[in-house]
Amino acid sequence: MEFETKCLHAGYQPKNGEPRVMPIVQSTTYTYDSTEEIGKLFDLEKAGYFYTRLANPTTDAAEQKIAALEGGVGALCTASGQAATFFALLNILEAGDHFVSSNLIYGGTFNLFAHTFKKMGIEVTFVDQTASLDELKKALQPNTKAVFAETIANPAMAVLDIEKFATFAHEADVPFFIDNTFATPYFCRPIEYGADIVIHSTTKYLDGHAVQTGGVIVDSGNFDWTNGKFPQLSEPDVTYHGLVYTETFGNAAYITKARVQLMRDLGATPSPHNSFLLNLGMETLAVRMDRHYQNALEVAEFLAKQSHVSTVSYPGLATDSQYELAQKYVPNGLCGVISFTINGGKEVAAAWLDKLELVSLEVHVADIRTCALHPATSTHRQLSDEELDAAGISAGLIRISCGIENSKDILADLAQAFASLEQ
Ligand code: PLP
Repeated sequence: MEFETKCLHAGYQPKNGEPRVMPIVQSTTYTYDSTEEIGKLFDLEKAGYFYTRLANPTTDAAEQKIAALEGGVGALCTASGQAATFFALLNILEAGDHFVSSNLIYGGTFNLFAHTFKKMGIEVTFVDQTASLDELKKALQPNTKAVFAETIANPAMAVLDIEKFATFAHEADVPFFIDNTFATPYFCRPIEYGADIVIHSTTKYLDGHAVQTGGVIVDSGNFDWTNGKFPQLSEPDVTYHGLVYTETFGNAAYITKARVQLMRDLGATPSPHNSFLLNLGMETLAVRMDRHYQNALEVAEFLAKQSHVSTVSYPGLATDSQYELAQKYVPNGLCGVISFTINGGKEVAAAWLDKLELVSLEVHVADIRTCALHPATSTHRQLSDEELDAAGISAGLIRISCGIENSKDILADLAQAFASLEQ
């Protein structure tokens, strides 16, 4: 199936007389005829549903669709993107371990890495993602177990050199994790460039309608977890009578463990209703993304011409510093998110945002409705001035997420807000 077709048909193919649309299986439990059968499910000898915290048919269909879209061997949906990032790394890291992350990442991910993981005894080193391979290697330690970055950084709009990061990770015999939320698998499938584990906040474009929070982890099935660095996967798990994930589940070892161990112990399960909404959103992903891209390109070109605007970051603009990398990794288009700097700092940025009428002020991106936000006073307000600078966020930076309205209406709203600054 081609990508657009997978958006509609992957994960659920009803048989004779079954519902055309994947139903919401709003049930926590599943009944069986014998204790023996239930025992086999608990011992992971047989696949099947027994409790919705671990697996549910509606969520399963959404997971299979995302795995198909990203080109992975399996996926695990979580209750939020934060939970997906947390689970993805915790699946292989433990106290005493270290990992390397790009410093151009979402503010919530930064907090998780720099503070919450630290409390758990897991240390991170942040690196400049534009550094050379030799420079990046200086961040490695004997206990380094993973490398992390975002395909298109939120909100810096930097495009990652995915192949460089995959090489960096693989030369250190560790997996490369990538947050592909902003690019979406429609525009970029990082596994094709060497990423091992792909993460999404499905709250964003995969849903697209701002109706559910969710996350997903996709396993490429390509990483060799038996290289001696990952005993959690290659040595017996006492909670499953000594089962060894890599022996029993082969190239699906990582994603199976995330489900049967982490989801079992920590929860963070999406509700079947949310999985239904997510699936509905994914059906139109391809058509929505083309429109987000067209609108964003027009808005970026418009912003670049405004006298009140000093910088516009949109890798689709030929003048953008990220244009070349975008041409390589996201040649067919980009997300709808643009970062730009308004002259005059915080006050002018706030005055302009307050004048918007059609465009709403929202702590969100990737909505089908255009929205805008001031990161320095919202999503990134916990960062110090130095950390803000390192993340590429200035006081006058505004993030606008272009929706799928007619672009004339979006441009008219932005224009009247700029005109108000003259008064
Ligand atoms: N990753 C990226 C790139 C994000 O933008 C976000 C949220 O904005 C997250 C992860 C976290 O996802 P969620 O808000 O669904 O927990």
